[in-house]
Amino acid sequence: MTDAPAVPLTLFNSLTRKPEVFQPVHPGEARVYSCGPTVYNYPHIGNMRAYVFADILGRTLSFKGYRLTHVINITDVGHLTDDADAGEDKMEKMAAQRAQSIWDIAKHYTQAYWADIKALNIRQPAHWSIATDYVPAMIEFAKGIAEKHCYELDSGLYFDVSTVDDYGRLARAHTEEGEGRIDAVEGKRNAADFAIWRKTPPGEKRQMEWDSPWGKGAPGWHLECSVMSGKLLGFPFDIHTGGIDHREIHHPNEIAQNQAFCCTNGLDNAANSGARIWMHNNFLVERSGKMSKSAGEFLRLQLLIDKGYHPLAYRMMCLQAHYRSELEFSWEGLGAALVRLKRMVMAVGQLKERASTPAESWGPKLTPLMAKFDAAVSDDLNTPIALTATEEAIAMKKVDPAEKLALVSAMDAVMGLGLLDLERTALRIRPKDATVNEAEIEATLTARKEARAAKDFAKSDALRDELAAKGVEVMDGDPLGWEWKLG
Ligand code: AMP
Ligand code: ZN
Repeated sequence: MTDAPAVPLTLFNSLTRKPEVFQPVHPGEARVYSCGPTVYNYPHIGNMRAYVFADILGRTLSFKGYRLTHVINITDVGHLTDDADAGEDKMEKMAAQRAQSIWDIAKHYTQAYWADIKALNIRQPAHWSIATDYVPAMIEFAKGIAEKHCYELDSGLYFDVSTVDDYGRLARAHTEEGEGRIDAVEGKRNAADFAIWRKTPPGEKRQMEWDSPWGKGAPGWHLECSVMSGKLLGFPFDIHTGGIDHREIHHPNEIAQNQAFCCTNGLDNAANSGARIWMHNNFLVERSGKMSKSAGEFLRLQLLIDKGYHPLAYRMMCLQAHYRSELEFSWEGLGAALVRLKRMVMAVGQLKERASTPAESWGPKLTPLMAKFDAAVSDDLNTPIALTATEEAIAMKKVDPAEKLALVSAMDAVMGLGLLDLERTALRIRPKDATVNEAEIEATLTARKEARAAKDFAKSDALRDELAAKGVEVMDGDPLGWEWKLG
């Protein structure tokens, strides 16, 4: 779209707990930082919900006419198995378990994460910032705030949270109960103080360690995000995103560091927190409990694909819920999302048969639907309503198909479902272990159609049985046009 739509973009700011009209720090630009994965294992589909959300945010900002700079980091050092400072480094632990180098572990799981990003139509950010590339910058940052805000213990350099105003405002969980979750480290001044540099214990050697004014060691996880976001986007930038768990510890700690670094204090001026708006997606949950990476086979995107689901069915499932609502995963729910996607793809396929290319724009009949869509995404990314507007546009009667295609294409630039590119046959449920030869099935089906046309029902039935023997069920008159499925 050339003209920026008129509805203002409103986003829910976790820091103020209010929806706010987006006002960019730099006119016409939007700078967004998303906390990325710790690459010690495969991401589960819950993690991927966080990036689908960040992608919808980025696409919406582009749709609203802002020039987007998006950064996602890759944490390959510093994230402990515990939110406190007592656990082991997740990367070191996995490398030891696998008897592999951390670099190999990081490379393997970064590639796996990028494969999921691609499969879910998540746009590439302007920068993938790799934590280990920024360690010298982290040391410089820490040196700048150490004197006023930190103190040294045997185990590391600690940030004193009492040196900044409003510590924990983002979490609103700055309570004894909240602090009870944080392990005590002897000598800490406040329970919520956290390590920004973790010293390698005497006599030990870590695979990843760097020299620093506080001895050999590794950066704290919170420090990484402060440094990479500030370096690449400049303080203050516009929006910082992450899953809702980060609202409690990781992001309050980032904010405290940013306040110290920017030499500012109270959070009433939102710019003091490093980012003006902090946004958090709610969790994907499953009935049997928390999604776990420790339980052998866990819910990762490849498992969905192996069971035969197109990965974009999972994207559809995410978009059907508002990002701030909890979303429950079930296979039935995924199946329903797949059917919904299939209906849309089929309807768009029919439009494509009637019009070979989208028109330049669309006329007044479709304008109200674009207004509805715009109002929905501008209202704190209300994708469930935006999806409905897209479906209404596809279904509208007596409209030039080329105009409809233009409109659907503009809407899909935000939703990212690939409606104009997906082939309906790609959405067929096709489990990994199914051994079917699709060309053979299609040929038998064609022969069966010819037999029926010639009223040779004996032959038609025989062909149907032949397919059934191969585990293929013929679906005559299926409203979704599947024609066949694996029994
Ligand atoms: P991690 O690799 O553990 O740092 O997580 C990557 C991202 O996924 C973070 O933004 C988390 O907040 C987010 N996340 C973790 N679990 C879930 C979940 N079940 N649903 C949605 N987001 C999640
Ligand atoms: Zn982070």
